[in-house]
Amino acid sequence: MYFIDPHVHMISRVTDDYERMARMGCVAVSEPAFWAGFDRGSVDGFRDYFRQLTEFEPTRAGWSGVQHFTWMCINAKEAENVSLSREVIAMIPEFLDKANVLGIGEIGLNKNTPNECTIFREHVDLAMKTNELILIHTPHLQDKFKGTRMIVDMLLEDTRVQPDRVLIDHVEEHTVRVARDHGFWCAMTLYPVTKCTPSRAADIIETYGDDRIMVNSAGDWGPSNPCAVPDFIQEMRRRGHSEAKIKKIVYENPLEFFSKSCNFNFTPPEQQRLDG
Ligand SMILES: [Zn+2]
Repeated sequence: MYFIDPHVHMISRVTDDYERMARMGCVAVSEPAFWAGFDRGSVDGFRDYFRQLTEFEPTRAGWSGVQHFTWMCINAKEAENVSLSREVIAMIPEFLDKANVLGIGEIGLNKNTPNECTIFREHVDLAMKTNELILIHTPHLQDKFKGTRMIVDMLLEDTRVQPDRVLIDHVEEHTVRVARDHGFWCAMTLYPVTKCTPSRAADIIETYGDDRIMVNSAGDWGPSNPCAVPDFIQEMRRRGHSEAKIKKIVYENPLEFFSKSCNFNFTPPEQQRLDG
């Protein structure tokens, strides 16, 4: 089955991962900007990172026949440096017209601090002024419910925000309703240890349905598995769900959401074969 991984940090993965993902049916990935494991020191550090995401990474993905899309932001972990965050936000528009950029993300909260809220709101303001989609990271573990609630409240208080142009990521059993009840899209992250396992994700689908929801690996430089989406596909098959239902979650839903961006120039695999 073809699938799209809507959240994976491929610059921290090797080319063999693209190859394995492609063999398992991956036709496209979307890579939000994120934290490098250390705080970057200058706006030029971010500019180089964004060049890697918009110039080299689509080329490298293409070697395996995978289409690469990306998102721009400074991560919430770096938002305590408000002045650097503002320099980065001011620089982001240089990249918004690049061919593979879908919007602003992954923005959000990490420890739910006032500075993180300030920078979150300024990212949302940029997205509204430039008519971009938004991809949102929600905090981990004990801070998750409170942080997700704070994020949703900040989005709802900005009357320019259209919920169907926002994807709230890393939802779990206790946060999926907070996101979806307001009309936002949401995504579950399949991690080996924290976040959702394939079986918990399948339980959530069985409880809340398959509208406006997707699954991703959020593969990065930490313990993670870029082939987690196929594990979810297998779990859904094991439970007897139809191929059409599984395809909606792993392929059609990301396609529908990303298509709201004018930069989503996706070629369906059937079309690629015809062109080739
Ligand atoms: Zn991420």
